[in-house]
Amino acid sequence: MVRILWDPLPATWPAEARRRPGGLRGLIAWAQNAAAVRDDDMKRRVRRGAMQAIVREAYQQTLAEQDSKHRGPAEFAQAWKTRLASLLDTETVEVSGWSEITVADLDTDLGWSLYAAAVNARSEAITHTIARPSRPSLPPDAQTSFYEFSIVAADEHALGHVRYEICEPCGVGLLLKISFSPDWQFCGLGTLALRQLETRHPELTWYTTGQYAHAKGFYQRYRQCGASPWTEKQSPCPHF
Ligand SMILES: [Zn+2]
Repeated sequence: MVRILWDPLPATWPAEARRRPGGLRGLIAWAQNAAAVRDDDMKRRVRRGAMQAIVREAYQQTLAEQDSKHRGPAEFAQAWKTRLASLLDTETVEVSGWSEITVADLDTDLGWSLYAAAVNARSEAITHTIARPSRPSLPPDAQTSFYEFSIVAADEHALGHVRYEICEPCGVGLLLKISFSPDWQFCGLGTLALRQLETRHPELTWYTTGQYAHAKGFYQRYRQCGASPWTEKQSPCPHF
C-alpha cells in the first residue's frame, strides 16, 4: 500500500499497451520524437504524481477520522472512496508539497486505479498478517519474565507490536502494551494479538494495563469471547 500511495509511480502503471516502433522507419521516428517525448513524459509524470498525491490526501483525511470513527476495513475503504470522489469533484485541490492541483488536468481513471489497488493491498496485508514468535525482552525479574512480538504483513513490514509480562508461579500474564500504527487500527489485528497470547500461554490468566480510552470498548468486546478477565487490574499478582 505504501508503494502504491507514496513511491514514484512506474510509467507503465497500470499495465498499458505501449506501441513500440519497429524497423528502421520506426527508429527514425523514435529519434525525431525523442525530445518531444521527453518533455511530454515529464509533464505526464507530474500529472500522474499529482493524481497519486490526491489519492494519498484522501487516504490521510480518512485516516485522521479513525480516532472518532473507528472504521473497519470495508467501511474505511468506502469513506476513502467518498473523500476521493469529493476531491475529484472540485476544480482545484491543495495538497502539502504541491502547488495547487487543477483536477481537470488529471487522469481520474488513474486515480481510481490507484485507489482500487491500494484498497486491495490494504486488505491483502490485513488478511495475511502474521504474528512473529515471542522473544524475551528486558532481563527477567525475580519472578516475572518480559516478552514482545511483532505483528507483520506478509512482506515482514511491521504493522504493530505487543509487549507482555508473565508470572509463571501465579499463572498470570499482563499485557503491557499493544500498539498499531494508525494505518492498521480497527482491522482486527488487536484481536489477533490477544488470541496469540492465549494460544502461546494457555495456562495463564490474562490482564491488561489500562491503556487508552478507545481500547476499553475493544477489551470489553474481546472479553465476551476470551476466557481471561482482561481487566485493567494493574497487579494481577504480588510479583508484578
Ligand atoms: Zn506472581
